[in-house]
Amino acid sequence: MELKITCIPGDGIGPEIVAEAKKILNKTAECYGHQIIYTDILMGGASIDVHGVPLTEEAIAAAKAADAVLMGSIGGDTTTSPWYKLPPNLRPEAGLLGIRKALNLFANLRPAILYKELAQACPLKEEISEQGFDMMIMRELTGGLYFGERKTVEENGIRKATDTLVYDENEIRRIAIKGFDIAKKRRGKVTSVDKANVLDSSRLWRTVVEEVAKDYPEVTLEHMLVDNCAMQLVKDPAQFDVILTENMFGDILSDEASMVTGSIGMLASASLNDTKFGLYEPSHGSAPDIAGKDIANPIATILSAAMMLRYSFDLDQEADAIEQAVKDVLKEGFRTADIMSKGCEQVSCSRMGELLAEKIK
Ligand code: NAD
Repeated sequence: MELKITCIPGDGIGPEIVAEAKKILNKTAECYGHQIIYTDILMGGASIDVHGVPLTEEAIAAAKAADAVLMGSIGGDTTTSPWYKLPPNLRPEAGLLGIRKALNLFANLRPAILYKELAQACPLKEEISEQGFDMMIMRELTGGLYFGERKTVEENGIRKATDTLVYDENEIRRIAIKGFDIAKKRRGKVTSVDKANVLDSSRLWRTVVEEVAKDYPEVTLEHMLVDNCAMQLVKDPAQFDVILTENMFGDILSDEASMVTGSIGMLASASLNDTKFGLYEPSHGSAPDIAGKDIANPIATILSAAMMLRYSFDLDQEADAIEQAVKDVLKEGFRTADIMSKGCEQVSCSRMGELLAEKIK
């Protein structure tokens, strides 16, 4: 198979971690008989330095011409970098918002996995962490409260602010379909999270999700109120497979789920549109404090590349091979500095990439 991948190395540790992800992709392609055509584009600070803007039309066109985009991370030190003296629409983050919009990425996927070998990083009680967990949070990304009409007025000397939470059935249906499709590739359970006891938008959410569920008899659907879900994530995270939810609830719950894994350098993410196209990136930022030192953890980006193979190219076996390589290397006791623990061997970013590539068969 021919895979057209646009890469955005970005800023800070971005180029280092993307280089390791390419190493793994190349080895996977070699073992499974695929051909990868890469195009690299600039975004964020790297683009500001060259073009004066964080994202160019040419970069957007190159992203659209690919089957998928793999990104490192963008941005610099927000207190010292000259990029943050620019107006907000010219700062690095504007590039990210711009590309998400241009590619119509409405579904955000964030896996939260607790690896047995890293269980000591989990802040939960041992009897909970020892069961492990492996969930996928699917968050609607382009609707809801963050995109509704808002205003602040003063009435009779009292300041009043209003935000509106709007969803139409099409916005709910397209993300629900993605959620059920992904559950089919996993353990076959969707937990749809809403606030249907209070909000009309949540009642519509629940109705549409139930309609979509009829087309997926092999997937079990349950509904959960968002306040209960926030509690269940720390009480019994192993119960979740796919959590499907709207924008603001997903924003909060996905950060909570990330924190209970305890390892920021291990967390992948994907943003998808209504085709197979997606943008894949680690959940962490550009870590300017450790850039250029070859000590960053490349695993979140490598697991993002595995998600790309699974969701944009339907190459499940190849994605499994990468995920298994990560488990094997952790089991053998190799760690980058951020996940280092007693009795393990500390390795650099590039060495971790080599070790993982050697495991792909
Ligand atoms: P950060 O995630 O970059 O770093 C937080 C801490 O985690 C730092 O101590 C860093 O060294 C460490 N860390 C992060 N990733 C690591 C890895 N792979 N291996 C080892 N350690 C790692 O968050 P921040 O410091 O708040 O932000 C830095 C920059 O990144 C900012 O400009 C911010 O806007 C940007 N950012 C970009 C994205 C993105 O591109 N999607 C996301 C978040 C933050």
